[in-house]
Amino acid sequence: MIKKIIWTFCAAMAVMSVSPCQAGTVTGNDERSGSAVSGGWNDGRIRIVAHRGFWNCEEAGYARNSVAALRCAQEAGVWGSEFDVNMTSDGVILVYHDGSINGKAIDRNPYSEFKDVRLENGEKIPVIDDYLKQALKHPETVLVYELKVHSTPEIEARLVERTAEKLKEYGLYDPAKVVFISFSKFICDKIAAEMPEFICMYLRDDLGPDQLNKDGINGVDYHYSVFGKHPDWLGRIRELGMFLNCWTVNDVKDMQEMIRLGIDCITTDNPLELRQELKTAGVEEEMSF
Ligand code: MG
Repeated sequence: MIKKIIWTFCAAMAVMSVSPCQAGTVTGNDERSGSAVSGGWNDGRIRIVAHRGFWNCEEAGYARNSVAALRCAQEAGVWGSEFDVNMTSDGVILVYHDGSINGKAIDRNPYSEFKDVRLENGEKIPVIDDYLKQALKHPETVLVYELKVHSTPEIEARLVERTAEKLKEYGLYDPAKVVFISFSKFICDKIAAEMPEFICMYLRDDLGPDQLNKDGINGVDYHYSVFGKHPDWLGRIRELGMFLNCWTVNDVKDMQEMIRLGIDCITTDNPLELRQELKTAGVEEEMSF
């Protein structure tokens, strides 16, 4: 039954321009893994994810996690645009990397403490609503949504709930449009349990693919150096049918190595340079349009 639902889900997405499991072998929920979606991308193509949006250009004013950076990623046609979220004590989700601003912990202070803070390009720090409104202008660009580590599991649980509420409010509660990443195992476990139709990739390499798969987490997003430290992990990721991303690949030599390894999805601050390296290597890029 679950297998049928997953195939129906993929068939529905096949008619859309973007599909997280478009060409992967999709398998159902099985005894080995609690994940409802697996199979990975693993289709020979490589996807570019703009790290904190395509901020590294004049049009975005070099402002990471800005709405302008998301817009530039959308206009560049990269497959995905990554961003970070932290939640205030009164439940407002900020698109912001650090856990504190001017010495004030975001999750211990209300939004009123942060509402006037500006980014490098003059934008106010976006709240999730600002970001999702821009996302709706080009929903074919996949949102790579990073839930940052917060002070307590209770706050992290609330962040996952608020995230689901906000995505539903904007019609973006859709595994074809959003994938999740986190350094928090607690957050990944909660998403795997409560939103198993979504891809969720764990960011820390303290756990290998076997343990994560056993826990029902369907993807890994490792630092690119991990494949040198654990040469057997890539094969296991393939065997287990997990989704695979790596971060943050900015140096040309490292780009070439990740392309050589065939990493399905590569996060970078330099998306246009990575696109050029893919062309040079003769590897097809899965773009968002
Ligand atoms: Mg991030």
